[in-house]
Amino acid sequence: MAKPYPEIVNTAAKDGSVLIVPVGSLEQHGYHLPVATDTLLVEAVAHAGAEGVHESLPVLVTPTIWSGRSPHHLPFGGTVSLDTTTLLDVLSEIAETVFENDFDALLFLNGHGGNMSVIADAVSEVGDDHPDREVLGLTYFHLANEVVAEVRESDVGGISHGGEFETSLMLHLHPDLVDEDQVEGTRRDEPYKHGRQDLFADGPLSVYRTFDEYSHSGAIGAPELASADKGQRFFDRLERELGELLREIHAQNSESE
Ligand SMILES: [Zn+2]
Repeated sequence: MAKPYPEIVNTAAKDGSVLIVPVGSLEQHGYHLPVATDTLLVEAVAHAGAEGVHESLPVLVTPTIWSGRSPHHLPFGGTVSLDTTTLLDVLSEIAETVFENDFDALLFLNGHGGNMSVIADAVSEVGDDHPDREVLGLTYFHLANEVVAEVRESDVGGISHGGEFETSLMLHLHPDLVDEDQVEGTRRDEPYKHGRQDLFADGPLSVYRTFDEYSHSGAIGAPELASADKGQRFFDRLERELGELLREIHAQNSESE
């Protein structure tokens, strides 16, 4: 988005144009990761995916929304959160004006678990108001299901908040922001077997807990198993999967195809 408006207007007017709005968060990630972790990661994935396809597709990325819905992290400090209704209004109003700008499709690319339900509601609400446009929502780490199964060394519970996955991505993308001397994970001790046990083992039961019920440091999972090499493997796959999704969105929304 570091472009003058005529270029944006031009891109939006092209057949099958797509705008990505990354949605992050500013919330504690344990002793070893910065509070902007989700914002930094979703932004990196959005740009990598878009850059991989931008020569052939009309795709742009907005600056990242840096605050999300994080009441479950407030007890630790260092967290700035929005109410559900505020975030829903922000996403809906952004979508309204994106469509005034003539983009054919809008993808909310989410980086934070606490935003997932709001993203889904925004997609329903905006989709209902704009049956002629495409509004989509995706939490980026769900693009990594296969590569995570291949690469992870932790058992279920090791990839959660600031665990093996996010810490590896940060070691790959922003090693200077990871304090490796302060790595301290814990296993999520969720008593309901149908509750969420891991980022990649999401149970069907919705449970609300502030994260100090799970963890002393605020991190949950196995960050001690993280490495830059795993982070690169996760990131490369995320980039490729997002590129493929963008091609698909473009094709679905092109009149010529
Ligand atoms: Zn988060």
